[in-house]
Amino acid sequence: MRDALLLATGNRHKVAEIQQILQGLSLAIACLADFPPIDAPVEDGHTFEENARKKAVYYSRHLRARCIAEDSGLVVDALNGAPGVFSARYAGPGATDDKNNAKLLDALAGVPKSQRTARYVCCAVLAGPAGILHTETGTVEGCIALAPRGTNGFGYDPLFIPEGHTRTFGELDPAVKQAISHRADAFHKFRAYLESVP
Ligand code: IMP
Repeated sequence: MRDALLLATGNRHKVAEIQQILQGLSLAIACLADFPPIDAPVEDGHTFEENARKKAVYYSRHLRARCIAEDSGLVVDALNGAPGVFSARYAGPGATDDKNNAKLLDALAGVPKSQRTARYVCCAVLAGPAGILHTETGTVEGCIALAPRGTNGFGYDPLFIPEGHTRTFGELDPAVKQAISHRADAFHKFRAYLESVP
């Protein structure tokens, strides 16, 4: 039987992006939706890595599976790194992608294009019964648009213009995001690691 690996995220967009990168490995890849529901751990880390470590250890212990968890978000220079680890809940309780994007645009009102630099960061951590086994981090540089554009992707994608492009991830073909995103960067490195271990 092939080794099993659990992608410990409930975000279907993330699952699709990660599964595409890891496809073809001799691993049976499952996701949280394949298991009975359990409470999510509190994401109270100060860094993406702390949160990813916490999620990987939690799910691997509770579901007795080898798990990769990831924590990711948007880091905006003009906002001293916000929303950062608070990316999913930037707009507060009941936050949605639209509300988070509206809050980000408000926070950047009056900030000129040259100072709207930002990056997406993704930290992925593999944990097994013996604890943490491996960590990789990926980034993609870019800047924040003046208004949301496009419907592809999720989260802040309608506002994020990757470096070297004029369109947002919301407008660009998903294949472009899949080639250059923070998640692609982290998980291509992870794929190389998984291929290198017996
Ligand atoms: P997490 O699920 O706690 O890691 O939160 C990730 C949050 O960061 C998401 O809810 C989005 O707001 C944002 N984010 C992370 N990756 C992406 C991406 O690829 N596109 C758009 N937003 C992202």
